Amino acid sequence: MAFDLSALGSFLRSDDPPHAGGYEDPAPRVGFFTDTSVCIGCKACEVACKEWNAIPEDGLTFTGMSYDNSEHLGASTWRHVAFIEQQRPMGAPSAGGGAGTTTVDLGMPTMPAAAGSSSADEALGGDGDRTGMRWLMASDVCKHCTHAACLDVCPTGALFRTEFGTVVVQEDVCNGCGYCVSACPYGVIETRKDDGRAWKCTMCYDRLGAGQEPACAKACPTDSIQFGDLDELRVRAQARVEQLHEAGVPEARLYGADPNDGVGGDGAFFLLLDEPEVYGLPPDPVVTTRDLPVMWRNAALAAGALLTGLAATFLGRKR
Ligand code: SF4
Ligand code: SF4
Repeated sequence: MAFDLSALGSFLRSDDPPHAGGYEDPAPRVGFFTDTSVCIGCKACEVACKEWNAIPEDGLTFTGMSYDNSEHLGASTWRHVAFIEQQRPMGAPSAGGGAGTTTVDLGMPTMPAAAGSSSADEALGGDGDRTGMRWLMASDVCKHCTHAACLDVCPTGALFRTEFGTVVVQEDVCNGCGYCVSACPYGVIETRKDDGRAWKCTMCYDRLGAGQEPACAKACPTDSIQFGDLDELRVRAQARVEQLHEAGVPEARLYGADPNDGVGGDGAFFLLLDEPEVYGLPPDPVVTTRDLPVMWRNAALAAGALLTGLAATFLGRKR
């Protein structure tokens, strides 16, 4: 039977994850929009994720670079709130060469001014001209990629596409080979040291099935994590970026929202206030299995040429 490599390519590259997962009449694709401009770093999302999913404790250690005490995503940290302290004046150009950051009222609660001070800025130790550090906070998670390399390479079918378009690991099918770990362009998925199997965010698949939103989005007090129909979230996110630009925050940008990027867009995307690298995110991620169909085709051609050569040699000797 001839093997249709173009079919393999289109399967790997489908832009419609729920249908690519084999569902005839799937639910609309859902996702996360994480608006980091309103994150307060409370880590309620991390805690809610741990509690709902019964994820084991994996230690709390400071990085030495910030007040972050959970360091990075991993087998036992499926939500991670990065703390980035930037020692640059509030009005200085951003890493991307933007026009700079000005103080903007985002509608957040304010601290009362200290006695004798005339404003909250003064209470922070300034003179109304805020020149100290700025803090960026971002709750990171598995991106539930449109083109998920982890899923492409899994040899046991432990990773699968759900009817919601998300990517989930079945721990009872995972054999711990770790192919998914090296395939993920974001460094999200990891094998756990004590059981050897791969673990990551499931977008609370069990809660979705019961019509509930994921635990992290439910717990977030500022709506920094928003869950819902992915198309609606993209429209909402674009409106938020425009609102911030008009309010004097030119650095605001979306990350992972573009369906034409190297992974076909993310099911979990972000509004950032600086370059992706500042948050530890790859600036231009590409699905690591992108060239797989071409590689298989080249391997098949090479094997064919080898067999032809061997046959010619064998037949030549018989004459
Ligand atoms: S971010 Fe990594 S682990 Fe998550 S779906 Fe994409 S490739 Fe898989
Ligand atoms: S994303 Fe929400 S819950 Fe998580 S740290 Fe930020 S504000 Fe808190």
